[in-house]
Amino acid sequence: MVFENLSTKLQDTLKRLRGKGKLTEKDVDVALREVRLALLEADVNFKVVKDFVKTVKERCLGAEVLESLTPGQQVIKIVNDELTKLMGESVAKLNQSSAPPTVIMMVGLQGSGKTTSAAKLSNLLKKKQHSPLLVAADIYRPAAIKQLQVLGEQLEVPVYQMGQQDPVQTAKAALEQAKRNRNDYVIIDTAGRLHIDEELMAELTRIEKAVNPDEILLVVDAMTGQDAVNVAQSFKEKLGLSGVVLTKLDGDTRGGAALSVRAVTGCPVKFAGLGEKTDAFEPFYPERMASRILGMGDVLTLIEKAQSTFDEQKAKEMEKKLRTQQFTLDDFLDQLQQIKQMGPINQILEMMPGMGGMGKKLKGMSVDDKEFVKVEAIIHSMTKKERQDPGIINSNRRRRIAMGSGTKVQDVNNLLKQFAMMQKMMKQFGKMDKGKMKGKGKG
Ligand code: GDP
Repeated sequence: MVFENLSTKLQDTLKRLRGKGKLTEKDVDVALREVRLALLEADVNFKVVKDFVKTVKERCLGAEVLESLTPGQQVIKIVNDELTKLMGESVAKLNQSSAPPTVIMMVGLQGSGKTTSAAKLSNLLKKKQHSPLLVAADIYRPAAIKQLQVLGEQLEVPVYQMGQQDPVQTAKAALEQAKRNRNDYVIIDTAGRLHIDEELMAELTRIEKAVNPDEILLVVDAMTGQDAVNVAQSFKEKLGLSGVVLTKLDGDTRGGAALSVRAVTGCPVKFAGLGEKTDAFEPFYPERMASRILGMGDVLTLIEKAQSTFDEQKAKEMEKKLRTQQFTLDDFLDQLQQIKQMGPINQILEMMPGMGGMGKKLKGMSVDDKEFVKVEAIIHSMTKKERQDPGIINSNRRRRIAMGSGTKVQDVNNLLKQFAMMQKMMKQFGKMDKGKMKGKGKG
């Protein structure tokens, strides 16, 4: 999972603050020094780190934090806010042309995931009832045209190509065809090189001039860290970049690119690539990313995933329960059963408040259903009352439940501990959400 190290370090640092009744300036300094190191180790641009720590410190030393009854919590909230801001505050939508088609040009180095992302984006648009046209304008990389055609066929999205002809002519002709066929989006896959060179930039500029795109999306491989940010800066100097697509966020990247690219280029990250499959592609939500880094789970993404898997009624109920903290062990069980249908278990756990640790623990193991069977058996061995109110489960009950489920008392303890932690995190999440809503009301 991306951000894993950063996430662990920040969480450890902030955990130490959480319990404190009173914070001194020194406490804040010590914590922020660790935050600074963690960010630098995650390969975040040093200037970005410097500004970040400065802002967080100023806010932390404000009277409302040091004198608050829960200063540790406040600091966590500030770090969360500032991480969110760093990545762009709110989700950045695609630009729209007032006269369709909306033209999107995909640019980036070879291997960054340009062709794949072009196809993924067309898939996303198609799912929203749009009618995209893909354009193969990468005439240099052997097989790039074929690759786009194969993807287009898979997704049932038309692909325009003119073989190895001048990409400017291809792009122009594609635009004409889109108008004739009423395609409301045109996505142009352009050529990449291993390094930035003059020739490539000149070609991209010519295409830009010829088709006047509404959106030029730079595709950046998040695994390349700081390099990715340097590349972004060079592209920005030559082209009217309007957004960034960060790919390979599913890999074991340190996360530096995701945290720096917006601040360095001023371009919002609009989409995230999360895998090789054509549906592993999402709008980039800074707020969710920040919460995920700080281990506050990603309740919103989880709810969305649930919505696409479960029926809507169920998802609504779950959302309400999560928000009002009425989530019981029964719901937990219900959820586990559905999670099995939702996809990679590690990823799902990563998104659940307080469960990030469990996701990590499962990582590297072959995640068979054993752990789940155990948890299911334990919850099944509880009475209705115990499931609603786990607080009443004393040591006698624990022993009985372990016997009944064929597990050890230790297993029961672990489950209860994890569940309690999850509830606590949810409470925190709920509080934060309320705070934010208040702010919005005022503005
Ligand atoms: P291009 O040269 O920029 O067009 O790059 P491609 O689209 O051919 O992608 C290069 C490689 O990266 C391919 O093997 C893709 O499957 C892979 N790839 C692209 N996006 C992602 C992603 O989000 N996650 C992962 N894991 N792999 C990706």
